[in-house]
Amino acid sequence: MKTQALEMSTLLSDRVNQLEASATLAMAAKARELRAEGKDIIGLSLGEPDFNTPDFIKEAAIQAINDNYNSYTPVDGYVELKDAIILKFKRDNNLQYDRSQIVVSTGAKQSLYNIAQVCINPGDEVILPCPYWVSYSDIVKLSDGIPVEVKTSIDNDFKMTAEQLEAAITPKTKMIWYSSPCNPSGSIYSKEELRALADVLQKHPQIIVVSDEIYEHINYVGEHASMAQFEDMYNRTVTVNGVAKAFAMTGWRIGYIGAPAEIARACNKIQGQVTSGANCIAQRAVITALEAPVSKIKYMVDEFKDRRKLILDLLSEIPGFECNEPEGAFYVFPNISYYFGKNLKNKTINNATDFSLYLLEEANVATVTGDAFGDKNCIRISYAASVSEIKEALKRIKEAVS
Ligand code: PMP
Ligand code: GLU
Repeated sequence: MKTQALEMSTLLSDRVNQLEASATLAMAAKARELRAEGKDIIGLSLGEPDFNTPDFIKEAAIQAINDNYNSYTPVDGYVELKDAIILKFKRDNNLQYDRSQIVVSTGAKQSLYNIAQVCINPGDEVILPCPYWVSYSDIVKLSDGIPVEVKTSIDNDFKMTAEQLEAAITPKTKMIWYSSPCNPSGSIYSKEELRALADVLQKHPQIIVVSDEIYEHINYVGEHASMAQFEDMYNRTVTVNGVAKAFAMTGWRIGYIGAPAEIARACNKIQGQVTSGANCIAQRAVITALEAPVSKIKYMVDEFKDRRKLILDLLSEIPGFECNEPEGAFYVFPNISYYFGKNLKNKTINNATDFSLYLLEEANVATVTGDAFGDKNCIRISYAASVSEIKEALKRIKEAVS
């Protein structure tokens, strides 16, 4: 066995040996494994709506199969889908893109990977306001970039200020990546807050912004703001979006970007060598999804809003869970450092990973450690689960920590 382990580590590249596995997917796999062993696990680890894809989108996919959409697709997406994306950007974000600026990919995750691969040179720094979405840091590292974490906390609603941005910029800074609404904190940058960041960037014209807006529609407070809306930022902002969250289409794997044409062309080139065009049936279905009025998916957002209230109320009854009120997405990101150094059922909790594992073992509830998002004091709990699951999970957590 020992020889085998040795062979494996030399067999594989340093690149993959140094790569962390995705903590969200790893926790979901662990929960699945435990369930298969007969344990009654409630999964609040994965950011995945528990709704089915709406019927009108499913019907478009069935139609596409019957219409014999079965060939390779254009690498950067069907023209009709690009046009639907252009319409969506104009309608929802007042952003004007043309076809040369749009690239459709196999999920927003691939969009992000493409961007990293085409923009980052070895040693380039990428500023990541913490907490950030789990894969940003590893995608940057896979592209030989250096993630530069900017710590935020619950006191400033987990948002990076203009001063913090200014202080993090060095001559090596190439990019800034953030999500708004944010996974995992649920925080949303207002137009004014984005403008303040953009003002700092005026002095640093070499910096490209990646604005991940995949939770755009899951917003409980009002207007969504995009960095590319500012005329002076448009030419160096890549707007990332996708259908996984708002349309309950996680498994369909369609994401897209609106970008400066040169970046879009480069993403097209790299995608052409790696995966080719995204799935034909999924692309046809997404045309229908994006052309539909946003009101068609409002029932899911309304439901998430009710569940947000439910989970915040239930968490407020458990000592040691300090929460901000998330404005969007479907996660809470409580600071649980109150438990560090404490003994729970003879187990010492030293950090957020210990705590998350403790909840899995003692409460049979899967969450994700904040470490994966660059914040050691928090855990992430997804409330994209049913009301009964949320109630039962929080009851179990309360018992496990009391
Ligand atoms: N960005 C953020 C902030 C996410 O939470 C996710 C998770 N789905 C993605 C990108 C990737 O999305 P997709 O499933 O379309 O690859
Ligand atoms: N984005 C989701 C999450 O954060 C799905 C998992 C993943 O793609 O990593 O849970």
